Amino acid sequence: MPGDGLLVEKRWPFRLHATYDESIKRFLDIFEAIDREVPFKGLHWFFDHAETISEQSMERVKHLGGGIAIQDRMAFQGEYFIARYGEKAARRSPPITRMLELGIPVGAGSDATRVASYNPWVSLYWLITGKTVGGTSLYDSENCLDRTTALRLYTEGSAWFSGDVGKKGWITPGQMADLAVLSADYFQIADEEIKGLESVLTIMGGRIVHGSEEFVSLAPPLPPVSPDWSATKTFHNHNISLGKGCNVACAWFAA
Ligand SMILES: [Zn+2]
Repeated sequence: MPGDGLLVEKRWPFRLHATYDESIKRFLDIFEAIDREVPFKGLHWFFDHAETISEQSMERVKHLGGGIAIQDRMAFQGEYFIARYGEKAARRSPPITRMLELGIPVGAGSDATRVASYNPWVSLYWLITGKTVGGTSLYDSENCLDRTTALRLYTEGSAWFSGDVGKKGWITPGQMADLAVLSADYFQIADEEIKGLESVLTIMGGRIVHGSEEFVSLAPPLPPVSPDWSATKTFHNHNISLGKGCNVACAWFAA
């Protein structure tokens, strides 16, 4: 089709959200046809999700210089996936370690708030343990990552996808970084505690945007109650009656 090669011709990076190999194969047919006319030649392009991508499609992605951005949808939907496709199919959905073995750039994320929660720690927990938030084991140990590798996918791995290789992703002089002080040591705590990690101090663009626990005095003022007719504007302590689980959201809304 005329115009199909426009992005490649203009050297514009592009991404395509595709979960199943059935759709990935069709897109690859098109990309390969374009590549024969307008070579991709190192252009950064990638699939998001790719949960059921086949071995053959991974090799085609690799050949075209593409990447795969993975999200923790399976952490939330793993049980439904097993019910529909079986445990065997779930074991390689997505085949993360195989992508890495093939040398395909892999970035980790959440696709929040459409595919999963924005919480990176739930995603890291899933990558490391291979478990859903409901506790179901999805993967054999071969498809689980060690903590360093999982964190690398979230940092330097994802820098490839945003065109920031060499600029972001490492804590090293010359690279840009936001900073979070965590509630516990990611490398030391038990697996089950990873998903409960929180930031107690967040600095973005050199500005403190969040502080709690020992850093609470550094926290910027909360935004005004919205809508301004909300009961939280009058009843500051209403969260006491709602129980512990509500504290974070309620503290946020209580001015
Ligand atoms: Zn998506």
